[in-house]
Parts: sequence; C-alpha cells; structure tokens
Amino acid sequence: MVNVKPPSRTQFLHSPRSHSHREGVSANRSNHSQRPRNHVLQALPTNDWERLAPQMRHALLISGQTLHRAGQPTERVYFPNAGLVSLVAESEGASIEVAAVGRNGMIGALSDLSSKSAFATAVVGIPGNALWLPAGVAYEEFQRGGALRDVMLRHTAALLAETTRSALCNRLHSVEERLSRWLLSVGDYTDCETIDVTHENIARLLGTRRSGVTVALGSFAESGLIDTSRGHVTIRAKSQLEDRACGCYRKALATG
Ligand SMILES: [Zn+2]
Repeated sequence: MVNVKPPSRTQFLHSPRSHSHREGVSANRSNHSQRPRNHVLQALPTNDWERLAPQMRHALLISGQTLHRAGQPTERVYFPNAGLVSLVAESEGASIEVAAVGRNGMIGALSDLSSKSAFATAVVGIPGNALWLPAGVAYEEFQRGGALRDVMLRHTAALLAETTRSALCNRLHSVEERLSRWLLSVGDYTDCETIDVTHENIARLLGTRRSGVTVALGSFAESGLIDTSRGHVTIRAKSQLEDRACGCYRKALATG
C-alpha cells in the first residue's frame, strides 16, 4: 500500500478502529476547521490546509466505481478518508492490481498530473469517502513549491516503490501467499477485519483465476484463519495468516 507518512507516525498510522469513517467530512465542501483522516492532508501545515480546504469537495467512493482510466486525463485528485482504491493495469481483457491507496495516500499521482493522463486505472475496491481537488488546482499548488509539493513527491516515491514490489510479488509468489498479503493489507488500511469483496474481484485484482482464489480461501477457512460468506471475508487469526503471506507484506509494513 502506498503510504505518505504524516508528521507523527504514532498519531496517525495507528488511529483507533473506533474512528468514524465520516470524520472530518461535511455534506459537500470540506470543513476546514477539522482535519480529515487522509494522511496527505494531515501532513500539510495549517496555513496550506486552510488555503486549500475551501476548494476541496466531498465524494463517496462506491464499490466498483472507476475514478479514472489509464491513458485518459486525470481530472480530479482524490484524498481518501476511508475505503480503498486499486490502481489496476489492464491488457487484452486481463487486469492486475499494481498498487492500492487508502487514507494513507492520494489518487492522481504527480506523474498523472504532469503527463495529464493516468498511468493506471483507479477502481474503488472497498467503499468509503474522499475529498477531492480539481487536477489543475492540485498541479498549480505543486508548482507553487509549497508543502503539498513535498507530500506529492513523497507519495510518488512510495507509489514507485509499491509498483516495483508488486511486479516482483506478482511474478514470484504463489496465489496463496499473495492472497494472504492482500487480505492483511486491506484489513490494515480499512481498519476492519471484515472485507466486502467477491472471489471474482479478488481474482481480478490478483490477476489469477477465480477457482484458484476459491481454493486458497477454502484452505484458509478450514485452518480457521478466516470466515467466508457471500461477498465477505473476515480475518479470524491475523498472525497465522501472516505466516501464510509472502515476505512482501512485512516489507511493505517496514517501509510504509
Ligand atoms: Zn509477495
């Protein structure tokens, strides 16, 4: 998962599970008296936040919604407060997740803004909500050379690191290992042990067959690591699931 570190790691990366997903969000415009949960926005100094907040708008992130498509113009930069967005590479009807962004990052990387087109398709995997800025406003802010530029550069570096890790993971590690990693990562970044996702969607994100996902989930359930029901997977034994994951999960935690 792409991660931009806010000023205080302990304050923001380990926020309690009881936080409301609507914290810091008003009906449409951003309420700039309250900082949103998004780590990029939390990392901004007060002056920068107060200047940008009136231009921020609120959006619900709906499962399956495409925020932008690879190769097409990026019109909005999203800062999720809750939920998870998959950045997906597609070719000849097949697809695979190359990175995922939750409240730790932003959708609309610097590369997207400077090239004026998205490098990957962004699809909401886990529903939630976000604040967004028009891409032109975000790019102008970058060119001002202020604090948002610094967090955008850090985010771009983190995104590059994650896509590199994903390339290796997708090539070298088994479906079971990658599935464990994916479930654990999603659980971490949504602060929720129950993940609303179908076998088909997991297979699409992992770039593998649905039957392979179903077999691996069945094996985890038999071992008591997870419970599955229609459209849901619940993590029951996180540490044991970690034992089944490839080392990429712990590497991402260590560097994130
Ligand atoms: Zn891996």
